[in-house]
Order: sequence, then C-alpha cells, then structure tokens
Amino acid sequence: MVDKKTASFMRSLCLGEIEEEIIVPYPEPTVAEKETLGAIVATLKSMLQPREKDFAAWDRAGEMPRAFIEELKGAGLFGLVIPERHGGLGLGATAYSRVIQELTRYDGSVAVTVGAHSSIGMRGLLLFGTEEQKARYLPKLSTGEMIAAFCLTEPGAGSDAASIKTTAVRDGDDWILNGEKLWITNGGIADFFSVFAKTSQEGRGHITAFIVTRDMKGVTTGPHEDKMGIRASSTTTVSLEDVRVPGANVMGEVGKGFKVAMKILNSGRTGLGGGSVGGLKRLIELAVHQARERVQFGRPIATFGSIRQKIGQMVVDCYAAESVVNLVAGLADRGFEDMAVEAAISKVLATEAVGRAADEALQIAGGSGYMRELPYERVVRDARINRIFEGTNEILRLFIALAAMNDVGEELKGLADSMRGVLDHPVKGFGVLSDYAKRRASLATGLRRPKGHWTLLAPQVASEAAVFEDAARELAIATDRLLRKHGKKIVEAQLPTKRLADVMIDLFALGALLARVSTRIEDQGEAAAGMEREILRVFAHQAKRRAAANFAAMDDNEDAGVEALAAHVLEAGRYTWDNL
Ligand SMILES: Cc1cc2nc3c(=O)[nH]c(=O)nc-3n(C[C@H](O)[C@H](O)[C@H](O)COP(=O)(O)OP(=O)(O)OC[C@H]3O[C@@H](n4cnc5c(N)ncnc54)[C@H](O)[C@@H]3O)c2cc1C
Repeated sequence: MVDKKTASFMRSLCLGEIEEEIIVPYPEPTVAEKETLGAIVATLKSMLQPREKDFAAWDRAGEMPRAFIEELKGAGLFGLVIPERHGGLGLGATAYSRVIQELTRYDGSVAVTVGAHSSIGMRGLLLFGTEEQKARYLPKLSTGEMIAAFCLTEPGAGSDAASIKTTAVRDGDDWILNGEKLWITNGGIADFFSVFAKTSQEGRGHITAFIVTRDMKGVTTGPHEDKMGIRASSTTTVSLEDVRVPGANVMGEVGKGFKVAMKILNSGRTGLGGGSVGGLKRLIELAVHQARERVQFGRPIATFGSIRQKIGQMVVDCYAAESVVNLVAGLADRGFEDMAVEAAISKVLATEAVGRAADEALQIAGGSGYMRELPYERVVRDARINRIFEGTNEILRLFIALAAMNDVGEELKGLADSMRGVLDHPVKGFGVLSDYAKRRASLATGLRRPKGHWTLLAPQVASEAAVFEDAARELAIATDRLLRKHGKKIVEAQLPTKRLADVMIDLFALGALLARVSTRIEDQGEAAAGMEREILRVFAHQAKRRAAANFAAMDDNEDAGVEALAAHVLEAGRYTWDNL
C-alpha cells in the first residue's frame, strides 16, 4: 500500500524503485464528472466560440471589457474550485484543469484571468484559510464579486522570491504593510490580494501571507502593462502604503509564508498545464485545417512529408502533455500530497510543448501565419509567457533535479528534514545540498533497487516498459555518478543538473503514457487503443534517444568551451569577432 501523504512516483524512481501503484491504473474522470464537464464545455463553447473577433480586438486594445468579465462571472467561472457549500462548483483538479484547457482553446487572456484567480489568487485561502476567513471571502470570490490576485513578485525579487522586500510590521493586533508588487495578474480588476511580506528583518525568509482587500486604505494598483501576449488580461503593479491589515487576515502561520507561496504554486500547476494542453489541441486543429486547404505545387501541403512530420509531432507532444497533466491532477484528486516534482514536470513539459507547437503551426501557415488577420501570431505571443511565470522553467528544472539527489535522505539521519527544505525552496536549500552531496559522494555503494520493474502493465506495452526500466536504472546510476564527480560543487553544476531534469521529465512522461495506454488496452481492447499504442511507440523511441544523449553528455560534452565563450563575451560586453 502506498502512503498518500509521502508517496511520490518520481522521488521513488530516483531511488531505483518503480512505484507503479501510484500511476496504474491511469486515473480517468468518473461518469458523473464527465457529465458535469460535458455541460460546462458546451456552455463555454456557445459563449466563447462566437467571440473570436472580439478576442482579437481586445488583444490589440490590450484590455478586456468589464462587460465581458461580468459575463464570465455570470457563467460561474470564478467559482470553479470553490466548494459548493461556499457557493462554488467544487471541481476537483482534473475537472478544473479541463475547464482551463477549454478556455485556452478560445483565448489565452480569458484563461489567464480565470486561472490566476483560481490557481493562485485565492488558492491560499482554500489551502490555509481559517473557517472564518473562508466563510467571509469564498462566497464573494465564488460569484466573482471579488476577483483574486497573487502578489509575490517584486522589482528585486523574481525567481529568488525569498528576497522580497515588502514589509509587515506588527501594530497591536494589526500589521502594517509597505511595499510594491510587480506584474500582478488581475491586478487591475482584483479586490482580493494574497500578499507575501517579510515579518522579520533578520536575513532572508521570515515571510508571512496576508489577505489584503482593495478597500483597505493604502492599496493602489498601477496602469495595465503593455505586454507581448495575453494582452487583454490585466497585469499591473500593486502598491501597499501603510496598509493596516487585521491579524485575522494572516493566511497560514506567521513566518511560514514562503511555504504557503510554494504550496499555492505547486497546487496551481495543473491549471497552467491544462491551459497548455488546450492550446495544443487548438493548434492541431488550426494546422490540420491549414495543411488541408493550402495548395502548393498542385497539391495540398498536407501531402508533404515535412508538414506531416510537424503535425504528427504535435499529436505526440499533445498526448504526452495531456497524459502528464491529467495524471498529476488525478493524483491530487485521489488525495496524494507529495506531487511537487511531478507537478513541476507537468508544467515544464506542457508549456514547452505548446511553445513548439505554436511555432510549428505558424510555420505551416507560412506568410499568412505571420499576418495578424490569422490567429497564429497571437497564439505564439500568448503561449510564450507560460515558460516564465509560476516558476521559470530553468528554476523548475533545478527543482526537479534536486529531487533526484534526495535518494538516501532516509538513511542520512537528520537530512530528510533539511532536504524537505530544499524541495520547498531549491535556491535557499543549495547550502544544505552541499552537505548532502559531500556525504552522498562518500557512500561506497549507492543504489537500492527494491523494485525496478513494472508488473501492472498490459503485456502489449512490454517493449516500451523495458525502455523505461533501462533509462530509470541509468538515471539512478547517473545521479550517483554526478554527485561523486561534482561533490560539493553539484549545486553550481547547472548543466549536468539540467540534463538529469530532462531525463526525469522524459521518464515521467513515458510512465504516464505507459499507464494511460496500458489502461486503455485493458479497458477497451488492443484494437481500440491502436493509435494511442502508436503514440506510445513514437514517444518511447524519442525519449530513449533523448535520454541516451543526455546520459552521454554528462561525461562527454562541450560545457567548458561554452562556459569559456560566455565568460569571454560577458567580460567584453559584446561579440568580439565582427569583421568590420
Ligand atoms: C505577464 C506576467 C504575469 C505575471 N503574473 C504574476 C502574478 O500574478 N503574481 C506574481 O507574483 N508574479 C507574477 N509574474 C512574475 C513572474 O512570476 C516572474 O516574472 C517570474 O517568476 C520570473 O522572475 P523574473 O521575471 O524576475 O526573472 P528573473 O528571476 O530575473 O530571471 C531571469 C532569468 O534568469 C533565470 N534564472 C534566475 N535565477 C536562476 C538560477 N538560480 N539559475 C538559473 N537560472 C536562473 C530565469 O530562469 C530567467 O530565465 C508575472 C509575470 C509576467 C510577465
């Protein structure tokens, strides 16, 4: 029996163990959930499909009309994840992710507006709020009378969020907040702000989460930012000047706000993943339409191998992203608590897949793809933000790979707790990791493999399961070797770390595909799962090749040369070989 409090498929995998019970059978929505979702999807279609021209116009204008936001409220879109007893729809992670997917098919700005409210804006209240706080705010958040925003980033604190400067100083039972938050989604339309502020001036950290509302004196928001994409969604600064916040508005424990922020971001990641999957599905439809209609050299361009390769790859990427995102959401719905690594993987994989697909779909459309009349360039612009917000993909890769180094935490007494700190906050945890690496490197024998093979999968996927097992074994060995090679310096060895993360991303995706296709074969028979079997075959082959390249590059690479070139140009401040 797996312990849902601590079980993590990827963290076990890095120990050399395939905890297949966590992901097999692959989670599917219940009949009742499918019915609810079917109704929501139909409503969204009738509401949003006719608005294509409006979405394009609002993108140009860089603003979403208030009247349309009222329509979103009327459709219940701000109450998606709020429990029914507080007036919401009470959707689980899978259903929520699916709704965001659907919204993104129509418009990225709409999806981000709804997503920032539910995924991060008021997620802290759901996760950490007291009953009193929930009763006070959730009914209003559910109707959209209050829209929510998540306020962490500051001019000097982006990826290094623990370095925020906004202060909260006690004054009797209240707190006085001062500071400036930057690039806050929904800033211009929100009334409920989850604000993170320092509650002690001693060094980094000591952060506390607060519920701040627009009616509090001293809260102001700046003008809409003029952005590259998701232009109609509101992004503003949020300024706090001597804002008096009652002690009753502290979210979670005083001083534990960083953990609150990280939990919110982890918990919200399937929203962004779902959005990316929605984007992928739309791009496939656009690409298919374009490829069938456009005739060159006397034939539809869909008949050319290069075009077909792009479309086929989009299908593989979409299925992989969907499998991973739904798996992570399914784990959340089944009560698994430790999914931070898997959620980070789903964000990186899905956001990069939609980025590639947007670029390729535009390429299939050729010059017309570059024209504003068609939706491609907007989708390219809208998709780009996904790799930056809610944790940049670089930071998330570091986070994912650090988990791979956690394999002997149990044996090394006292380290398990510290490593948990690393996983909550990779950057702050780097110091701890140095100790870990030193001790790990001194271990003569590294790997424990209680169960390094699958037993629950359908026999039809055995060859892909073997690809997974081989790469998983190599992953455990590579983790060990990397630590031996770099010792204390592993924390600065970002390129090997990135390669390890890339293998983990591929392996989690392959695990998700194996579980999904195997479950489909067992439920519906081999014939019905024919094309999905093909997707699995292609993905496994590609993942195997990428993993082999990543493993090989751990020892055989040109990192030192690339580093030397970067050092040279960073020193010179420019490219130094111009021939004029
Ligand atoms: C449209 C938009 C909406 C946003 N919405 C919100 C919101 O609602 N709430 C909120 O709080 N924030 C929001 N943000 C902020 C967003 O979360 C940050 O932009 C993001 O966390 C990255 O921070 P940064 O932009 O300061 O980049 P930086 O942290 O300065 O990073 C710059 C580059 O350096 C890399 N980098 C940084 N540190 C490391 C490292 N240790 N190792 C390797 N590479 C590193 C990064 O990956 C990145 O490529 C939003 C941003 C945008 C653009």
